[in-house]
Amino acid sequence: MSALSQLQWDDRFLRELPADPSTAPGQRQVHGAAYSLVDPSEVAAPKLLAHSPEVAEMLGLDAATIESEDFVALMAGNAKLEGMRPWATAYGGHQFGNWARQLGDGRAISLGELLAPDTKGELRRWELQLKGAGPTPYSRGADGRAVLRSSIREFLCSEAMFHLGVPTTRALSLVQTGDAVMRDMFYDGNVKPEPGAIVCRVAPTFIRFGHFELPASRQDEALLRTWVRHTISGHFSELIEGDEAPDAAPVVLRFFEEVARRTAVMIAHWMRVGFVHGVMNTDNMSILGLTIDYGPYGWIDDYDPNWTPNTTDAQGRRYRFGAQPRVALWNLARLAEALIPLVERVEDLEQSLQVYIDTLDAQWGQMQAHKLGFAKADADFDALAGRWLDLLTQAETDMTLAYGQLGEGIDDDDEAAANAWFGRMELAFYAPPTEALRAKWLEWFADYRGQLARAGVAEVDRRARMQAANPRYVLRNYMAQEAIDAAEGGDPSLIRELLDLLRTPYTRQPERERWYAKRPDWARHKAGCSMLSCSS
Ligand code: AMP
Ligand code: MG
Repeated sequence: MSALSQLQWDDRFLRELPADPSTAPGQRQVHGAAYSLVDPSEVAAPKLLAHSPEVAEMLGLDAATIESEDFVALMAGNAKLEGMRPWATAYGGHQFGNWARQLGDGRAISLGELLAPDTKGELRRWELQLKGAGPTPYSRGADGRAVLRSSIREFLCSEAMFHLGVPTTRALSLVQTGDAVMRDMFYDGNVKPEPGAIVCRVAPTFIRFGHFELPASRQDEALLRTWVRHTISGHFSELIEGDEAPDAAPVVLRFFEEVARRTAVMIAHWMRVGFVHGVMNTDNMSILGLTIDYGPYGWIDDYDPNWTPNTTDAQGRRYRFGAQPRVALWNLARLAEALIPLVERVEDLEQSLQVYIDTLDAQWGQMQAHKLGFAKADADFDALAGRWLDLLTQAETDMTLAYGQLGEGIDDDDEAAANAWFGRMELAFYAPPTEALRAKWLEWFADYRGQLARAGVAEVDRRARMQAANPRYVLRNYMAQEAIDAAEGGDPSLIRELLDLLRTPYTRQPERERWYAKRPDWARHKAGCSMLSCSS
């Protein structure tokens, strides 16, 4: 374990938070403690299918280390480094609007906190967590494992989101375990063995809203305070002024406001790139405002604000694309409730929720303006943008391609140019628009050009802004599914190919233009492509 044994670890999390006194196997309710020590369970024949070179570099792992057997054993949960004391944490959460009591890391086991210098030489803290490494006290009767298909989806999407500029947890490695996992993918009584896998995910911390909700729900103010102190002093220390205690009421308020602000930024980005999380339960909300827990998420193909990828959510559509801004606000309100015992006036927390609303308005307004090539949004712009989104919905138009095509150069202002423009848009239509709709598109286009002229937007600026705001390639559901089908058949190369593609999602890659295309017809109703199961 030469190179691996050189790594610098710290156990601040274990030191600062109280441990479950029991280390017995089996599930249990854990009171008065933040985590339980638990080792990953061994797997049969681990194989590294893919890794993220950027995350490896960020952690100080060189190519030789990544390729070593020791590294694969560590990423599979088959080996520990000296001194490593892996853990799983206790958290609660509101699932689909209902309080679900104790949940916790049922299949996530943290290996430790790695200290690695960033590009400026400053030490950064990275928690490494294995997802699918076996049962923990929080597994609630489930096996603690993850299937290959959902692991490929988490691995690829975390890295794709990072390269899109969306706040997210990262993924270091994807290991196939060699063991089978039994799953009922469609919840129809058909349990089948599926290949198992483990993703090592990486973030400064995986603390969620639910970590505060659980002690608050049990009126355990001491534990709640300890969580808050740890979180603020470790991850929000810039909010502490002078000799303030990290859990002093004014600091807690600033902390909540900062979480609200970061959450708003994250949501604005989701709306910008067409990402639907699918399970925005409060246990899946990161305290750092990172996208976390990639499960039955999906990407918008044809623009439809009512779309949800999650089959479990098909009835209520609570977590549909267009509802995400409101759901995040609801989730923040649950976090605020949990923090009430630590502030002096509840009204202050309520007011802080306004920070979320204001930040989201500002961020989303700005992003929307850039998506259409303008420098900033105003009332005229809002009307134009609203009409554009209506058109996308009415004509069953691919979101990514519509912005991509609109971002191409526009010629002289005459009828021939307008027709040529509409011809280019056809790449984005899933169904040919009627004559009436065509007329509406052309009318919109004329108004768009008029407004660009009034706002004095130069064509080169318009294109540059649009190129930076609108990804050319996103991880469409069918793309991940193609990589899954190939990997299940023994060929993981498409995982790496997609990872490569999604590393520069805003740049045209001529040799990979097959991914700048609509979702193919075969994928319209295929499982994994249009609807996704929570069973993972
Ligand atoms: P999720 O819906 O994936 O966010 O998971 C909700 C809760 O169920 C979390 O506490 C997970 O750790 C737990 N969980 C999900 N799948 C499993 C599994 N296969 N084994 C154990 N716990 C699981
Ligand atoms: Mg979760």
